[in-house]
Amino acid sequence: MTEKKGMVIVLSGFSGAGKGTIMKHLLSDYPGQYYLSVSATTRQKRQGEEEGREYFFKTREEFEQMIRDHELLEYASFNQNYYGTPKAYVDKLLKEGKDVILEIEVQGALQIRKIFPQALLLFVTPPSASVLKERLEGRGTEEPEVVAQRLAIASRESLLMEQYDYIIVNDDLDRAVESVHNLIQAEHLRAMRSTDFIDEIQKELAIFSKGENE
Ligand code: ADP
Ligand code: 5GP
Repeated sequence: MTEKKGMVIVLSGFSGAGKGTIMKHLLSDYPGQYYLSVSATTRQKRQGEEEGREYFFKTREEFEQMIRDHELLEYASFNQNYYGTPKAYVDKLLKEGKDVILEIEVQGALQIRKIFPQALLLFVTPPSASVLKERLEGRGTEEPEVVAQRLAIASRESLLMEQYDYIIVNDDLDRAVESVHNLIQAEHLRAMRSTDFIDEIQKELAIFSKGENE
């Protein structure tokens, strides 16, 4: 049997849709199965966030140096801040056959699709726009002005939802987490991901059938 190959999974969705919450549960419900890429950003640290856990917090100058040094797999500007995926960690995990999840916005997701055409693209949404507004307000981490900006961005992002492979409606949290896990596991079983195994078994069967024909 050939070795398991690592996969890139992109988890996008409106700000406040529940991506962070889903990821936290996925990592604790399935320990050791999934690895989260920690992004670099120029946005301010929120209360409770830690350097290197939620993000690597950078100044604009530091971030722009990372771009010039080709240290980022992809990056995008979101609400006047840069966000980007450090390349080295993702490369390392994939080499080790690990599944790596990138929690990134839509422009970055489409860049990833070009780099890794076999990446699985998931889009998380709340059941309705009014629930999104409630969640953003309920989280209490942004000023009302920023909440309004994020809702305006969500409206633009919704135009790209159809480019994703699957839409995860995050109504019941446990079901959303289970859907993400099941979709990733099903994706591993796609025939196009098992070409080495298919080659191997075809060769073995060909040997048997040769013996049969003699
Ligand atoms: P994102 O990472 O997509 O910006 P968060 O994970 O921070 O979103 O979630 C936004 C808010 O919604 C948080 O206060 C979180 O506790 C809440 N939330 C997330 N998922 C659910 C859910 N299924 N039902 C109710 N509230 C949720
Ligand atoms: P937040 O400020 O709420 O943490 O993130 C804002 C948006 O940036 C979210 O949609 C989040 O998924 C996205 N984001 C986080 N890290 C990255 C990244 O490395 N690249 C891109 N393109 N988007 C990111």
